[in-house]
Amino acid sequence: MATIIGIESTAHTFGVGIVRDGKIIANKRDMYTTESGGIIPMDSAKHHREVCEGIYAQALLESGINQDEIDAVAFSQGPGLAPSLLEGLKFSKKISKKLSKPLVPVNHCVAHLEIGKCRCAYSKLQNEGEGAKDPVLLYASGANTQVISYASGKYRIFGETLDIGVGNFIDNFARYAGIGFPGGPKIETLAKAGKNYVELPYVVKGMDVSFSGILTNLKQKLKKESYSVEDLSFSMQETVFAMLVETAERALAHVGKDELVLGGGVACNSRFQEMAKKMCNERGARYFCPEKSLLVDNGAMIAYLGEIMFNSGIKFENSESEDLDIKPRQRTDEVDVSWKN
Ligand code: AMP
Ligand code: MG
Repeated sequence: MATIIGIESTAHTFGVGIVRDGKIIANKRDMYTTESGGIIPMDSAKHHREVCEGIYAQALLESGINQDEIDAVAFSQGPGLAPSLLEGLKFSKKISKKLSKPLVPVNHCVAHLEIGKCRCAYSKLQNEGEGAKDPVLLYASGANTQVISYASGKYRIFGETLDIGVGNFIDNFARYAGIGFPGGPKIETLAKAGKNYVELPYVVKGMDVSFSGILTNLKQKLKKESYSVEDLSFSMQETVFAMLVETAERALAHVGKDELVLGGGVACNSRFQEMAKKMCNERGARYFCPEKSLLVDNGAMIAYLGEIMFNSGIKFENSESEDLDIKPRQRTDEVDVSWKN
């Protein structure tokens, strides 16, 4: 049995989670937001610096454990924004030194997939509270949009965006419509009031997707008074979510798997969930949508995968921690998965 603390800081969210023996016993977070405009990396890093101690204290309080009971400090090593990742690394090293406990470097995208296997990621009502066994992950977040699954010794990307992440695409559209960051939740509300489907480009290339052309098209339509922002939000959701679900379905067929896990902030969208669930039902696949607090960036998933890695012997003692650095551009398929062998 191990007790692992997980530190998440790849982008706008600073999170601290604690996992003991595969169970989440704390998950606290704080997100950098803006009234208007997008995310400024240096400001996001400053946010993390300001909130880290407080979130750490809150997580400990929620877990009910004493910090001496922690066996290791897992942290998000990448991919992400370098200034944000550096704050997380600095804080993780500080805690690891203070507690004299080793560090465990975790890949953020793989953590999104692995948390889908955690029983306590779901309410009892969904799948009888069971986790996925060997899923395909449809990861739809701000910066990342990927379809990932484990195959032949690696986490492989079966499909991905060829340009921007779907969340960034939605936020960019929202910003153009005068909405602050994050735009996704507000766009979801506007979309519910949309009545007319406006035709937009549908861009799927094999198992990859692309959003920049749709963004340009939407911006042009927004400039014309003849389209309402509600109708455009509705049409945007119908189009891009269909694209994502299509690529996930192709990946399921390609790798011959029958479990889909959702991940990323965009997966909080109820229309997105509905479309993914429908696809799974139609092809007899099991659908797993973790609780919202585990879909978004969070420390619990870092701690959860951190515990699996730690139990397999992956750890960096204090004397070796100088060798540990952030990996802002780490690709999912570059991750050394020695813990699975
Ligand atoms: P993440 O990077 O995974 O933390 O997710 C953040 C992204 O999720 C941002 O781009 C948000 O706009 C987006 N997002 C959050 N909630 C929703 C929602 N209900 N619908 C669509 N996008 C959302
Ligand atoms: Mg994420």
